[in-house]
Amino acid sequence: MYKGTGASAGIGIGRAVIVEEKELVIKRETVTDPAAEIQRFKGALEVSMKQTEALAEDLGKRVGEKEAEILKGHIMLLSDPMLVGEIETNIQNECMNAEYAIESVCTMYADMFASMGDELMQQRATDMRDIKTRMQKVLLGVASVDIAALPAGSVIVAKDLTPSMTAGINPANVTGIITELGGRTSHSAILARALEIPAVVALGGILEQVKDGDMAVLDGTEGTVLINPDDAVLAEYQNKRDAFLKEKKDLEQYIGKPSVTKDGVSVELVGNIGKPEDVDKVLQYDGEGVGLFRTEFLFMDRDSMPTEEEQFEAYRKVAVALDGKPVIIRTLDIGGDKEIPYMGLEKDENPFLGYRAVRFCLDRKDDVYRPQLRALLRASAYGNIKIMVPLVTCIEEYRQVKALVHEIMAELDREGIAYNKNIQLGIMVETAAASLIADIFAKEVDFFSIGTNDLTQYTMSVDRGNDKVSYLYSTFNPAVLRSIKRIITCAREAGIMVGMCGEAASDPMMLPLLLAFGLNEFSMSPSAILRARKMVTQYDTRELQAVADKAMSFATTAEVENYMREFINQ
Ligand code: PEP
Ligand code: MG
Repeated sequence: MYKGTGASAGIGIGRAVIVEEKELVIKRETVTDPAAEIQRFKGALEVSMKQTEALAEDLGKRVGEKEAEILKGHIMLLSDPMLVGEIETNIQNECMNAEYAIESVCTMYADMFASMGDELMQQRATDMRDIKTRMQKVLLGVASVDIAALPAGSVIVAKDLTPSMTAGINPANVTGIITELGGRTSHSAILARALEIPAVVALGGILEQVKDGDMAVLDGTEGTVLINPDDAVLAEYQNKRDAFLKEKKDLEQYIGKPSVTKDGVSVELVGNIGKPEDVDKVLQYDGEGVGLFRTEFLFMDRDSMPTEEEQFEAYRKVAVALDGKPVIIRTLDIGGDKEIPYMGLEKDENPFLGYRAVRFCLDRKDDVYRPQLRALLRASAYGNIKIMVPLVTCIEEYRQVKALVHEIMAELDREGIAYNKNIQLGIMVETAAASLIADIFAKEVDFFSIGTNDLTQYTMSVDRGNDKVSYLYSTFNPAVLRSIKRIITCAREAGIMVGMCGEAASDPMMLPLLLAFGLNEFSMSPSAILRARKMVTQYDTRELQAVADKAMSFATTAEVENYMREFINQ
């Protein structure tokens, strides 16, 4: 068994098809008529644009506008006057052939992006190489691999899939995707999820283990791959696949049903989103609102900050789409593991303990926080927006944000601009400090949302991204559980709403405990909502009290996990 990163859920079983772009041989040649060569380049550029536009249009229709954005990005790259100008200058001044001029300029940019290290820049590098190859193929008259023509039951195995290759995939024929490169958030992973094709990425060396026609089995949830398994294992995965598909189908019956326990306790099952377009998935899976809009995604993948106007449009779009249902929008949470190059953040010695989230925003009120809060307040006139502050550790931080919100409200009043005067302002409870003074916070803030991803990290003193210490990272650790229970109790005693938007909110083993503790709102990846609803309707919170008491009595994480695993499987 090979282990990579699960990038799109489900079980894929089929015949391996190795998809390899032929290496193009690009030689430097000297041209005698640079002006004619520039014309040749311009011709290829135009054809490349047309090809990309056609692919984008097709993908937009078949999959969605959001997915087509990736290719629209390529069109923007192809029409970048600087890039085009540099290629033409090389042809003109160096008498270079067009193929080589493209090679040297695009490779220079791709290498520069790749060396910057973060995932976003890696993606830019992939995009740059993708457009380079497209233009060179047009010049050389080389046809692209026709992914659209693969036979039914194919599992694509590739070094990496460029967005334009992935765009051609027909989900009727492709049952799985395995790549050596990429990450969960690379464009091909995003596309695989949109197409609902199981995918495992970042599986280095897999191309040496597999050849065309091998039986390939992948589990896109676990991130595992098997090549030519024996019949018994194959049958096991076929059952797993059938169960996965059956569950997915069965869960559709929970669309439109209320999220109420057997004893009549109503909870809200809502979605986590990163971009306005993600709202489609929340609606598709019948989410009762948005419990976390991670606004930092609006700031990523670009060279400058989104303006107040751009942000206003994004927030308004979500509020309008949710049509009165609650939309909790979190103010900018950058720093830590989330970098935004143009923000001018220096590398912190201890990024997770450093200059991030509300600390950064309060320090950059004028250029960062004010425009965001103004955009949020303006958008609040169009729906049920609530504002949430991340990484709060002390009451002073909350008070400062609240004062700023009131200042902006007065400003909007003077300007005659509409906003919701009763807008709720809540906090993420995700630090040990906030948890310990949850009773104090609960008297002052409008709502809580427990961020278990960070709460676990800060409670256990364990970097959430560090593999070497990940054995300590569990929400089922008795310390973390006590913290969660206490936060919920403090909120209930003060009569404020308490939700959870960390990954634990959708963990089937955690859900019975959260119901027993009295959590009001569960915010999760939209595709997890229906399974959570099914579970909620099966429980009686009175019966769950004893389960929770028992779970809280254990001294170790393993005991809690074993007990809860057994409980949900019984
Ligand atoms: C969390 O910390 O649990 C959370 C939801 O926020 P993020 O994962 O964006 O830090
Ligand atoms: Mg967090």
